[in-house]
Amino acid sequence: MAGRKNYDIIIVGAGTAGLTAGIFCRMRKFSTLTIDLKEPGGQMTSIYPSKPVMDYPSYDLVLAVELADSIIKQTKKLGIDFILGERVEEILTVSDGFDVVTSDVRYKAKAVVLAMGIGLFNQRELGVIGEREFTGRGVIHGIPKINTAKDKRVLCVGGGNSSLEVALAVKDIAKEVTLIHRSKSFEAYEFYKESIMNSQVKVKFHTELKEILGEEKVNEVILFNREDEKYEKLKVDLVVINIGLVPNFKKLRDWNLEVDNAGIKVDSEMRTSREGIFACGDMVSYPGKLKLLISASGEGSIAAESAFKYIQKKNQEG
Ligand SMILES: Cc1cc2nc3c(=O)[nH]c(=O)nc-3n(C[C@H](O)[C@H](O)[C@H](O)COP(=O)(O)OP(=O)(O)OC[C@H]3O[C@@H](n4cnc5c(N)ncnc54)[C@H](O)[C@@H]3O)c2cc1C
Repeated sequence: MAGRKNYDIIIVGAGTAGLTAGIFCRMRKFSTLTIDLKEPGGQMTSIYPSKPVMDYPSYDLVLAVELADSIIKQTKKLGIDFILGERVEEILTVSDGFDVVTSDVRYKAKAVVLAMGIGLFNQRELGVIGEREFTGRGVIHGIPKINTAKDKRVLCVGGGNSSLEVALAVKDIAKEVTLIHRSKSFEAYEFYKESIMNSQVKVKFHTELKEILGEEKVNEVILFNREDEKYEKLKVDLVVINIGLVPNFKKLRDWNLEVDNAGIKVDSEMRTSREGIFACGDMVSYPGKLKLLISASGEGSIAAESAFKYIQKKNQEG
């Protein structure tokens, strides 16, 4: 192992939760290291940089990448150290705290805040014919770059916020947009539902995607209406699938952290089942948890304050 450094707190993940936790650690004047396997910003920069965010206080509308940039600038001013491009593989309990182990370096801290977001999730697949074959050739899982839809006939699959957001984001540059959902109504913000219903997006409820067809690229899909049990062919150039995420919590179990179906179990102080390890953001589970930027920020502040109290107590004891 190449090096060994000492910090009060190590934060794993530089998304909204981890960045906010960092701000509060520095308010307490803790030496703080944040490790991320990618660039800072989390989902805002890696999944939906050009999406307008409309539900973050103080901005009526801000591009995700701009919101991320302003949080990152704030953390840099406060003197948080960043290690980017390294994946945390293991967290070992040692006599004076924790060893946070990446592929080639071992970092040391008195407490750890986990903020790994959806790093442990994969996009859910439909499992239909043509889905895998055409992935990257007209089929996208998740959020595409908006320009990918330019002048294309787009099919959005899914009835949650992400799917409606994609349809709304691309509707003005795409040739046409069809949005299908297998149920009778969307499971999304009323704001998005209203915007969709007042737009030129063609909505088909009770409808499933059955098959994706094409040659070099996608050119047609087969849809199935569950109500009248009829099949329909639709010419499309781009299929965007957003039907949720599948968690992979094996690593968390290996790290001896208690998990349930939704993520790492935490209490109201963002304490995990391992003393001295706190967690926040999309990866945590508790009753009423919302997967939003603002909740990730709120939980980041709680996790940092709890880590502060934990270290203070340890110092008094020792
Ligand atoms: C398409 C889409 C649109 C959304 N729109 C909105 C919106 O408009 N408003 C809103 O409030 N919320 C929105 N959300 C939800 C919001 O983005 C999340 O709730 C938020 O990003 C969670 O932040 P986080 O810090 O917990 O995780 P993330 O943003 O996922 O950050 C986690 C970070 O941890 C890093 N990481 C993971 N594993 C490791 C590891 N082992 N080692 C090192 N680093 C690691 C990742 O690289 C990542 O940078 C949207 C989500 C999606 C998918």
